Amino acid sequence: MFRKNEILTLDITEVNNLGCGVAKKDGVVVFVKGAVSGDRVEAKIIKVAKSFLVGRLEKILTPSPHRAKEEFCKAPLACGGCVYRHIEYEHELDMKRRYVEGAFRKAGLSDVVVDKVRSTGACRGYRNKAQYPFGLASGKVRVGFYESKTHKLMPCFSCALQPPLFEDICRFVCEFADENAISVYDEKTGKGLLRHLYLREGKNTGEVMVCLVANGKELPEEERFAREICAAFPRVKSVMLNTNAKDTSVILGDQYRTLAGREYIEDILCGKRFRIAPAAFYQVNHDGAELLYGIAAEKAALGEGDTLLDLYCGIGTIGLSLADKDTRVVGVELVEDAVRCAKENAMLGGMENTCFFCGDAGDAERLVKEAFEACGDARPVVVVDPPRKGLDGKLISYLAGQAPEKIVYVSCDPDTLARDCVIFRSYGYEIGTVTPVDMFPKTGHVESVVCLTRSDKATSYNALRRVI
Ligand code: SAH
Repeated sequence: MFRKNEILTLDITEVNNLGCGVAKKDGVVVFVKGAVSGDRVEAKIIKVAKSFLVGRLEKILTPSPHRAKEEFCKAPLACGGCVYRHIEYEHELDMKRRYVEGAFRKAGLSDVVVDKVRSTGACRGYRNKAQYPFGLASGKVRVGFYESKTHKLMPCFSCALQPPLFEDICRFVCEFADENAISVYDEKTGKGLLRHLYLREGKNTGEVMVCLVANGKELPEEERFAREICAAFPRVKSVMLNTNAKDTSVILGDQYRTLAGREYIEDILCGKRFRIAPAAFYQVNHDGAELLYGIAAEKAALGEGDTLLDLYCGIGTIGLSLADKDTRVVGVELVEDAVRCAKENAMLGGMENTCFFCGDAGDAERLVKEAFEACGDARPVVVVDPPRKGLDGKLISYLAGQAPEKIVYVSCDPDTLARDCVIFRSYGYEIGTVTPVDMFPKTGHVESVVCLTRSDKATSYNALRRVI
């Protein structure tokens, strides 16, 4: 019924988490990039799919009051990073709340209460990590972003979400590569050296790590590079070379070599010092992480003598920041370097009563069982913070079988969180208020924290299991 190139007048009612305005025309959903809820627009149909249309924004007939008043970032929109750059922040927070609520509703949990989205309010320069692909532009070495969903480089040094220092480092590295004829990796031929520039900053220490990801074990002039970048930027405390010779879109390879300084940087989070290896996960928004952990701490409400089991613990940040010196903290994490950091971080914080396991937290019957045993006799308060895919069904049933009173679930994906909450409820856990936290302003992502509490029903479930 709709034809390509047809012009439609649309009232935009929502914006999805890819930044597309959503409207309905005669019952058919239309997605329009760049349109904002409250806009009346003219859009040209550029794609007719079975159940939806894609329109290109042609004209804003009536602008929404939620449109941002100022330009947020100068980088081309196609970078796909800050998909909400054209929307007022207050409205973005409302949208994110509705997104989390919608995920719970779709999972059949419309009775679950979703709080308003908490945020530090800082939308600029909040990221402490960047991974820029290298490429050539007019014969010069450049870094930038891949155009969304492609591997086409858009040269660009600045990004509103990154700290300004990163821009200067990008420029320095590209100039050095040009002056010293260091080659750039070409995905098509598999030839050339420089693949990515990986930067990380410890916000509260100011320390910076520069890591070059290369298709090779060494770089021409690497010693001079390391010396000169440390001299030019005194905050650089670690210069690393990561080797990735594989034909893959995974950024980092397995091997690291230290070119200057230490093989890690440090940051201070929630008043505690953390060592961060390049291969380890570290929350990209420092102040957002402090807010998130504060909320997790409120929900965990650890009492004297409680033990904390931190699953998917990374470098130990949640467990070590929630606990006090006497609390027993047990962690489980897949990445070896992160586990090493977690152990060192426990020492740095003078936390002696800790134990960290390296392995797959989905391996419930062996590894998580061992972790529970390491918690001692008392049932621990459990914190889980899995990647986007959420928890494995086997792990949920194992956790429910261990019957901790409280499981604090920190999630970066509302859909898998809601899915897992359905299973926890079936095992008799009550779902507390869900608190979304905006760790990633201007992007389509939102974090959430919820406390699952064992109810009387759970007791009868376990009793029933014993009878069976
Ligand atoms: N809680 C930490 C890390 C959260 S990110 C923090 O706030 O910093 C999720 C972590 O889970 C990452 O460190 C990742 O390496 C780890 N991870 C991913 N899959 C895993 C698995 N199957 N088992 C254990 N850890 C895993």
